[in-house]
Amino acid sequence: MASLSTEISRIAKYFAPLTRAETGAFNLSNDAAALKIPAGKHLIITTDSCIEGVHLPRGCSLAQLARKGFRRNLSDLAAMGAQPWRYTLNLHLHNHTADGEIAKLASVLAEEQAQFDCVLIGGDCTSDDARAHLTFTMLGVCDHHGHPRGGANSGDDLYVSGTIGDGFLGLQEALVTTHHSPLTTHYYAPKPQLALGMALHKIATSCIDISDGLLADMRRLEASSGKRFALSEHAVPLSEAALFALQQNTVTLQQLLSWGDDYELLFTAPKSAAHALQQLAQHHRVRITKIGDVN
Ligand SMILES: [Mg+2]
Repeated sequence: MASLSTEISRIAKYFAPLTRAETGAFNLSNDAAALKIPAGKHLIITTDSCIEGVHLPRGCSLAQLARKGFRRNLSDLAAMGAQPWRYTLNLHLHNHTADGEIAKLASVLAEEQAQFDCVLIGGDCTSDDARAHLTFTMLGVCDHHGHPRGGANSGDDLYVSGTIGDGFLGLQEALVTTHHSPLTTHYYAPKPQLALGMALHKIATSCIDISDGLLADMRRLEASSGKRFALSEHAVPLSEAALFALQQNTVTLQQLLSWGDDYELLFTAPKSAAHALQQLAQHHRVRITKIGDVN
């Protein structure tokens, strides 16, 4: 196990600089952070772990775990319609993790913070012989309570953003090659639909992000609302890569709809919102497709 003094010096060297935009993080020298929530905002909180061998293949780097873990959590904030704000990170390392790996991890976190305007405020660092895992707790702010999961009404339309199945194809590629491609980038560094999530306020009646597969996450919306959803599988938007893979019979539609790692938003909205959604799609340059009905 890394010594206490090693952990303290790593925190001071690599992680304390990431807190500079938040004085309430006390430079990571206190037992806890103290935050002043922006006036009139709701605090939206989510937590999720990213584990080597579970969420990413065995042998992945800490930096890869960090980027994916960061974005998986941001995707949950997107599903709530919240803007990223602050986060904590519990870091569980192998005993023999080199300082260079931690430096790379910290530099990825700095990039993610800058891109998504979200600042580290605290956490924990431990190590043993187990596989590496990172647990983020992400705080977002929002003008409202967040999109509900159970708000779908009979007669609503079911929509999805982006395309489905690229996370699955990205994993297949990542398992056989270390080369970067748009698909492996989608797998390792998914793009959370934050702007769309925020713009869906007063439009979406329910919303979820697709982390566990379109079919599984749709069932969650369905179960929460107590309504039946009728999915038109042929309407689900697929990328050119997914269409090609289907044509070549290297994947099935069921695999693309079931795997997950898409991090798109699945949501319901009343039929009267169709025009507003078209405008949103244009404004945010995101594909929004009707894929079913709420009965
Ligand atoms: Mg989620």
